[in-house]
Amino acid sequence: MNNRTFAMIKPDAVRNGHMGKILDRIIEADFKILGAKLIRMTKAQAEGFYAIHRERPFFQELTTFMSSGKTMVLALEKDDAVSAWRDTIGATNPSEAADGTIRKDFATSLGENAVHGADSDENSVIEIGFFFTNNELISNQ
Ligand code: UDP
Ligand code: MG
Repeated sequence: MNNRTFAMIKPDAVRNGHMGKILDRIIEADFKILGAKLIRMTKAQAEGFYAIHRERPFFQELTTFMSSGKTMVLALEKDDAVSAWRDTIGATNPSEAADGTIRKDFATSLGENAVHGADSDENSVIEIGFFFTNNELISNQ
């Protein structure tokens, strides 16, 4: 069980003015923010980040969307962080997301679903490393 996970506030949520409200949800759920950056992902970065999905039919749509505007990338800390964050964001498809989850409240559609969460400890380490160097992660507070 890892105490870190990787999260993103996706371009739809930033565009729709939900970035602050989602940061509030993160803090209210007792995650510590170890690192946060507002970036505009390139298409190539999005393709690299989502390489595991490259054979899926939604790959082009997903990587075009993820490079369409600002994304906030976040390294979060909490006990059992990966599953705690997946519980906080809800199901991939907002129509299946539980009440009170971020995707239920802020997602636009299956593709434009407001937030990302790493799906395993192993991937959280890889994904944090994709956007942050170690000395950008501030854990002493
Ligand atoms: N996605 C999509 N169509 C699908 C499944 C996924 O556009 O049928 C997008 C959606 O933005 C999702 C991302 O691809 O968040 C990654 O898919 P994954 O199955 O890993 O879902 P997640 O881990 O984000 O819940
Ligand atoms: Mg996933």
